[in-house]
Amino acid sequence: MTEILNFYGGEFHPADSGAWLDNYDPSCGKVYSKIARSGASDADKAVKAAEKAFPEWSSLPASERFRHMKNLADGIRNNLETYARAESKDNGKPVSLARSVDIPRAVSNFEFYAAGAMHYASSAHYTEGLGINYTLRRPIGVAGCISPWNLPLYLFSWKIAPALAAGNTVVAKPSEITPMTAFMLAKTAREVGFPPGVLNIIHGLGPEVGEPICVHPGVGAVSFTGGTATGKRIITQAGTMFKKLSLELGGKNPNIIFADCDFDKMLSTTLRSSFANQGQICLCGSRILVEKSLYAEFRDAFTAKVSKMKVGDPADEHTRTGAVVSESHMEKILSYIEIAKSEGGKVLCGGERVRLGGDLSEGYYIAPTVIEGLEQECRTNQEEIFGPVVTLDTFETEAEAVAKANATPYGLAATLWTSDLNRAHRAAEAVKAGIVWVNCWLERDLRTPFGGVKQSGVGREGGFDAMDFFTEPKNVCVSYLR
Ligand code: NDP
Repeated sequence: MTEILNFYGGEFHPADSGAWLDNYDPSCGKVYSKIARSGASDADKAVKAAEKAFPEWSSLPASERFRHMKNLADGIRNNLETYARAESKDNGKPVSLARSVDIPRAVSNFEFYAAGAMHYASSAHYTEGLGINYTLRRPIGVAGCISPWNLPLYLFSWKIAPALAAGNTVVAKPSEITPMTAFMLAKTAREVGFPPGVLNIIHGLGPEVGEPICVHPGVGAVSFTGGTATGKRIITQAGTMFKKLSLELGGKNPNIIFADCDFDKMLSTTLRSSFANQGQICLCGSRILVEKSLYAEFRDAFTAKVSKMKVGDPADEHTRTGAVVSESHMEKILSYIEIAKSEGGKVLCGGERVRLGGDLSEGYYIAPTVIEGLEQECRTNQEEIFGPVVTLDTFETEAEAVAKANATPYGLAATLWTSDLNRAHRAAEAVKAGIVWVNCWLERDLRTPFGGVKQSGVGREGGFDAMDFFTEPKNVCVSYLR
C-alpha cells in the first residue's frame, strides 16, 4: 500500500509520531493508501528547512526561479495522465475532468507564475520638489499554504506557485482527504532537481499539523483556502500574531436568470455550474433565481436534463458525474436534503444516495438534486452544502433578483444571464460578490483578481494580486531636488 510521506529539505520522511491515517478511494469506499499523520514537530522541521533555503532562493535572479518553476510545470505535464488518474481516484471526480481541467490547470499555474516572476515590477513616484519615492517589494520568507480537497492539485499549486515566484520558500499542506497528487508533486520536484527546502509538503489533519504551520513563528504569511469556520479559526490564531493572511472561504453563489437570456446557452451552462465536480466547486451556483415569466419553462427543461445525468465510475471515460469526496461529506449532503424537505422544499429530481453495483457498491454517490419551494431565509439557502444540490426560486424585478442574490452571509461568485447590456452592468455592480460572470461561467483569466467578500474571504489571489500578497512593500523616499 502506498505510503504518502512528508517532503522537506528535499527528502521524504514519515511522521515523527510514526502514525498513519487511512486514505479512501471514494468510488468504492475502500482504503487504498496510508498518509503520514504529522504534528507540530514535523511542521517545525519543514519550516526550518524552508528558512534554511530562503536566502539562496530569494536571491536567485528571477530568470532562475522561472527556470525551476518551468521544470516543475513540465514535470507535471510529462506525467499528465498518471496525475489525472491519481486525482480521480483520490477525489472521486471523473477522470475526464481531472485530465481536462485539474491537472492542466496545475501546469498553467506554475507556468503563469514562472512568467510572473520575470514580469513583476516595483513602482516609483516622482515627488515634486523632493525627489523620488520607490517601493521595494521583497519576499516575506516562509509562506504557509493550506488547501482543500475539492480541486486538490489545482488549488494547491494556485497558492504555491505565486509564493515561490515572489521569492518565498513554502511549507504546504493539502487536505488529508486528497493528499495523493501533492505527494506526487513532491516526487516530481525531486526528479526535476527543484532546490531542496524551497518547496516542503506536509501531510496530516488540519488541527494537528495545519494549525502548527499557521501559528509557527517562522511562517510570515498564510494563504488558506477552505471552509469559513476554519478561516475564522486561522484569523483568531495566526491573525493575532500579525501574520499576513489570505483567506478564500465558502460560498452560496446565486445564478440569476432573466427571461431575455439565450435560453439554450444558459441551460447547458447552468447544468455545469450546478453539478460540475459533483457541485463541489466553490464557484458552483447553488441558488438558481429565475425570472417568473421564464420559471416554468426553465424548471421543466432543467429538471428533465438533470434527471438524465448518469452517476458513474469516476475511472470510466464516459462518466461526467462521479463520487462525492468522502463518506462524511456524503452524509452531510444527504442530511441537507432532509433539512430542505423539512423546510417545505419539494425535491424535483435526485434527492438520494445512488448505489452502483459490484466493487463500487460502497462508493459515495449522490443523484444530482433539484429542489423548489424554499424561501431564501431557510437553512438550505443560507448554509453551504457543497454538493450536487441546487434550489430554484423566482423573482419579478431586477431589484428583487439582486436582493435575493445578496441575502446570504457569503459573497464569492455570481452568474447573470441576460441579453440586456445595461441590466448586465447594473446587476453586476449591485451583486455583492468578488467575481461575477455574465452569460458564462468559470471562464478564468489567471491575471484577474480572485476572491470573495463578506464571509467568503479576505484578500485576492490571481495575477499580481497574489505576488503582492506574498511580498512586503517598503517605501524608500529619496530627496535629491534641493
Ligand atoms: P476545511 O476548512 O475543512 O479544510 C481546508 C484545509 O484546511 C484542509 O487542508 C484542512 O486539513 C485544513 N485545516 C483544517 N483545520 C485547520 C486548522 N485549524 N488550521 C489550519 N488548517 C486547517 O475545508 P474543506 O477541505 O472541507 O474544503 C471545502 C471548503 O473549501 C468549502 O467551504 C469551500 O467553499 C471552500 N473552498 C473555497 C474556495 C475559494 O476559493 N473561496 C475554493 C475551494 C473550496 P484536513 O482536511 O486535512 O483536516
